[in-house]
Amino acid sequence: MVLYSHSRLSSFEQCPFKYKCRYIDKLKPDIKTTIEGFLGNAVHSTLEWVYTHSKERTFELDDLIEYYAKLWRGDYSPEIKIVKEEFNEEFYFNKGIKFLIDYFMKYSPFKDNTIETEKKLIMSLDLDGKYKIIGFIDRLIHHQDTNIFEVHDYKTSATLKSQEELDQDRQLALYAIGIRKLYPQVNDVKLVWHYLDFNKTVSSERTVEQLETLRQEIMQLIDKVESATEFPPLSSILCKWCEFRSYCPTLKEESNNPEENSNSLDQNQSTSETNNNQNNFPKNNSPYKSQQKLF
Ligand code: SF4
Repeated sequence: MVLYSHSRLSSFEQCPFKYKCRYIDKLKPDIKTTIEGFLGNAVHSTLEWVYTHSKERTFELDDLIEYYAKLWRGDYSPEIKIVKEEFNEEFYFNKGIKFLIDYFMKYSPFKDNTIETEKKLIMSLDLDGKYKIIGFIDRLIHHQDTNIFEVHDYKTSATLKSQEELDQDRQLALYAIGIRKLYPQVNDVKLVWHYLDFNKTVSSERTVEQLETLRQEIMQLIDKVESATEFPPLSSILCKWCEFRSYCPTLKEESNNPEENSNSLDQNQSTSETNNNQNNFPKNNSPYKSQQKLF
């Protein structure tokens, strides 16, 4: 019985060939992780640590920074891929520091009815247990007075979704289905995203009817995945971060056809530059100067 997750389903939608490499053929990826993934893990782990202990102790900003820096130093390796070559490890390290400073200023002392962090959810979408889903909720809040739950998710990417997009977002809505199954008496489940690169918190809600429609759609998508016999590569800007590039027939074709390749590189470059401009803060200007010695 396959356990599906939001990221597994997204992988199929994004590029069926990549999905096959990762989940069916279980090929060895070209890279361990990207720097964006590494940064996301370090920030997530720091916030998980804070909320796991926030009931029994208080936190200063330095506690968060030191914990994050220790994680970074302990786990960083030169094999981690930096796709945007104009930036270096220090740039990404400092980005994480800035995320934590902004978050601390907004949410310290972190006392907000959090009941669990990194909550593992396994649920069946149907009565026969044919459509099984797994997910991890970054942080779960329960307000006992109103019997309302909040599903919180930290985003470290440089892309901010619009309210309309979040009102259609699948990942947290899927978790809302799981919470409603676990706690049938719940009054409501709110969905909350922390876009750390924008220092912005956004929320959305779903009706029971919307969740039922989503449940049906996900079961149909799982049927589509399970009945797939062809897994074509689907190029996008995300190819630059793909961990199966060395297996990819599209890239092999492009390298045999330099003219096409150069056109596609130009397109990618201009998109990448647009993203970087949103993202960039001056080098050698750490937002947390007293910690520059950490690097
Ligand atoms: S490089 Fe792009 S097209 Fe090729 S497998 Fe990866 S995501 Fe798919």
